[in-house]
Amino acid sequence: PTVAVGARTPLRRGAELAARASRVLPAGVSSDARRGLPEPVYVDHALGAHLTDVDGNDYVDYVLGQGPMILGHSAPEVVEAVTRQVARGQAYAGQHALEIEAAELVQAMVPGAELVRFNTVGSEAVIGAWRLARGLTGRQKILKFEGHYHGWLDAALWSLHPPVDAAGPREAPLPVAGSGGQQVSAAGDIVLAPWNDLDAFSAVLAEHRDDIAAVVMEPLLCNTGCIAPAPGFLEAVRKLTSAAGALLVFDEVITGFRLARGGAQEWFGVVPDLAVFGKAIAGGLPVAAIAGRAEVMDQITAGSVGHAGTFNSNPVGMAAAVATLGRLHRDGDELYPSLRATGQRLMSGLRSAAASAGVPMLVDGPGPVFQTYLTSADAVNDYRDFAATDRAGMARLHAELLRRGVNIVPRGLWFLSAAHTDDDVDRTVEIVADILRTW
Ligand code: PLP
Repeated sequence: PTVAVGARTPLRRGAELAARASRVLPAGVSSDARRGLPEPVYVDHALGAHLTDVDGNDYVDYVLGQGPMILGHSAPEVVEAVTRQVARGQAYAGQHALEIEAAELVQAMVPGAELVRFNTVGSEAVIGAWRLARGLTGRQKILKFEGHYHGWLDAALWSLHPPVDAAGPREAPLPVAGSGGQQVSAAGDIVLAPWNDLDAFSAVLAEHRDDIAAVVMEPLLCNTGCIAPAPGFLEAVRKLTSAAGALLVFDEVITGFRLARGGAQEWFGVVPDLAVFGKAIAGGLPVAAIAGRAEVMDQITAGSVGHAGTFNSNPVGMAAAVATLGRLHRDGDELYPSLRATGQRLMSGLRSAAASAGVPMLVDGPGPVFQTYLTSADAVNDYRDFAATDRAGMARLHAELLRRGVNIVPRGLWFLSAAHTDDDVDRTVEIVADILRTW
């Protein structure tokens, strides 16, 4: 029997599983993004906007698999498509119609997607996009922004959340490795700039002008708070990047098919040369894509730039992508405004709850994804601002929420899905208000 949100039974079975896991999985988990959870919550099943743990507790889920579940968990059209396909074969390493259908949907929905290639996860699609940029420009360096995440691989894992005292000056940050054992020489190909600072970006770009193959960014920064580009920033970066002969790459692994049908490039009205997608593209199945200008992608056609993968466009993932994108394409006119409205209802409820309790909380983002920061600042504009917020307090709030049946990304990020209802949102606000009253 399922227990209502806010109440809970003790996590006995969860604790048993955690003990078993610690004997077989390092840190008891399979991705570092899941380590160190304050409670042994083991998921039994997920449906719509809710998770149920193995002890029978219910959670309103704002993690949504770290973003993919845009239609909610186990959306009927995705379950049906995957079930149908899985009985017809799981990996053909051969051509099939579903990959064309999925690519046609990406092409129809994403403004800059003239051609599309599929991969399995976002991290490898990022590296594929960088290879295409290097192939076209004959240059080596990638300009990335401090606090932006482009996957866990060695070439990309620089300066996500570095210790500020080891990260150089704000205007000219230095690449800091994200992991022990990381290929140190990869730092030589990374040039860093602060987010949302056009003067600093221009200076860094000018200094490395002849060497930059690509400028890469999360166009709405979602791995360090939820930070929109300052007015005019994207447009200026677009212009300066082209003028420097480099390619602009949007990492739309989170924003793709979430902010709008056409992702951040539609939402902000700035079209990159290449974009990388993952997460929401296939409603929970591991599918990623590189999509962009034909001239860039046609290096693959010509055979001058290689791109491969055993599981690329596997038919089960493609069935999920066609079902997910098909629904978003068909219903987007109602679905996206409704998703934004639900998110904004939650955001304004959280703001009121914090204001009544006198807790300094900033709630920022477009709605389909947003961030809660514990800070008295009016705005968070870059990684250094984010690092100055009360991150330990946010971790404590996350733990309290989890204990009361609300699941958010531990650093304070919230994802919404088409399955979240006003009821879910209102219950969540009540729980947050209750926690903050005695904060
Ligand atoms: N890029 C961004 C913006 C992401 O948020 C992530 C994952 O969270 C990735 C790339 C890497 O994707 P994956 O975890 O599928 O490799």
